[in-house]
Amino acid sequence: MKITGGHLPKIAGRPLSTVEEISPPDKLYISLNRCGVNYKPVVKSGQKINFGATLAVASITGGKLSLPSPASGKVLIDEGEDKVPHRLIIETAEKDITTGTYDKLQPERVTSQTVRNTLAKSGVWPFFWSSLTDGTPTLDENEKPRAIIINTVLAEPFRTRGKVVLRREWKQIVQGIKFLPRLLADYGTVEIILTAKRDPVARMMYVDLAGFARLHFHPVPLLYPVENPKILSHALRKSDSSFKKDDVIWEIDIQGMVAIGACLSEGLPLHRRILALGGPGISDPKHVSVRIGTPFKHLLPQNYSSEDVLILRGGLLKGEPIIPDTDSVGYDDDSLFFLPEMKKRKLINFMRPGFNRTSSLPCFASQLTGASDSEISTSLRGERRPCIACGICERVCPAGLMPQVIHRYLYREAIDEAEAVGLDLCIFCGLCTYVCPSKVELQKQFKESLEQLRLEHEEAAASVS
Ligand code: SF4
Ligand code: SF4
Repeated sequence: MKITGGHLPKIAGRPLSTVEEISPPDKLYISLNRCGVNYKPVVKSGQKINFGATLAVASITGGKLSLPSPASGKVLIDEGEDKVPHRLIIETAEKDITTGTYDKLQPERVTSQTVRNTLAKSGVWPFFWSSLTDGTPTLDENEKPRAIIINTVLAEPFRTRGKVVLRREWKQIVQGIKFLPRLLADYGTVEIILTAKRDPVARMMYVDLAGFARLHFHPVPLLYPVENPKILSHALRKSDSSFKKDDVIWEIDIQGMVAIGACLSEGLPLHRRILALGGPGISDPKHVSVRIGTPFKHLLPQNYSSEDVLILRGGLLKGEPIIPDTDSVGYDDDSLFFLPEMKKRKLINFMRPGFNRTSSLPCFASQLTGASDSEISTSLRGERRPCIACGICERVCPAGLMPQVIHRYLYREAIDEAEAVGLDLCIFCGLCTYVCPSKVELQKQFKESLEQLRLEHEEAAASVS
């Protein structure tokens, strides 16, 4: 399987491989928006709830998705100024019981519909990505994938490392894999994405999964954004000519597989996540295992100050800033990136050799020492400049685009020409923006232009009807 483009940013603050257990706080905060979908509460304020009870539901084609309670206790509905519920607060019970809630299923006996319903009820179903919907697959049994890709590689600095999860949760992952044939189309396959074939974790996988039929391994280079499901499904289709154009491919990451194993073989709802806390702005980068709903402030170092460090939810390239005082761990979180705020500009910085700075151009001394970037910060280090046509963005683009050409068309407001050279194929990985020596905000420009195109197409369709 060949992946084109990509780049591995070398950044200081890589989290340790050990996982620290964080005990749940007295109150958990559950957002009613998950991956852009709004869930409707099915509980009343003041109601007592058990671990795994359904808190809220959302409809999708073929059924309903649920948010399960990550703890027992009393639930309160938190409404915004508009009187619309936007989150639930769970005052956790003194005795924290997290035993199996659903029936334990047998992979050989269970039906496809039972697997689908159980994963939807337990909060696990949205971990699947489908090439048919470009998002969560439908719960309808008519959608059956020709292949399910299990991705163990997350290259963006610093998302939870696949190997950390594999070492810790291997038993549940294997349990989960046993159920996947129930979801596949006839002759469907399971495709495992991993890095080096020879390391001990990879060997453990080869040995333990040797008896599984129709399961293949694909070693890939550790280059961001190999974790993108569109990139993986495209590479899989290209590597195997037996795939037809309309064959559906699903993808799931390794924490999703842990949740499947725990749910179907042990009856556990989705209730915890492993998070990587990394980046140059944290003194003890590490992994933590944490209950869903835990306020982020519960995870921050004691000396944390929002004036010194910006925290991104997700990795360095795609993460979004959090509000540490109010935001909490969601069902899909896997990382916090601590990015130092650059408050003072360094004198004659452009003349420094750059032992601790990296660039896609060979212009810093770190090229010789192999050091990671510990000086990365929110500072742009100087003004934005026009595109210098260096071509680096094209070299790294995983979608095979020429971002500099699209940029030039959009700069001239020639949006149709930009579309003709592939603007709509952009996966918004942000790599072009990251490597650009002129700091051109390519990804932002492409996202805004595509949104404008979408609105224009909608208006045109509405005027015809
Ligand atoms: S954001 Fe789009 S154009 Fe830029 S590197 Fe990623 S896929 Fe390519
Ligand atoms: S990386 Fe930046 S400067 Fe270089 S070609 Fe692309 S847009 Fe232009």
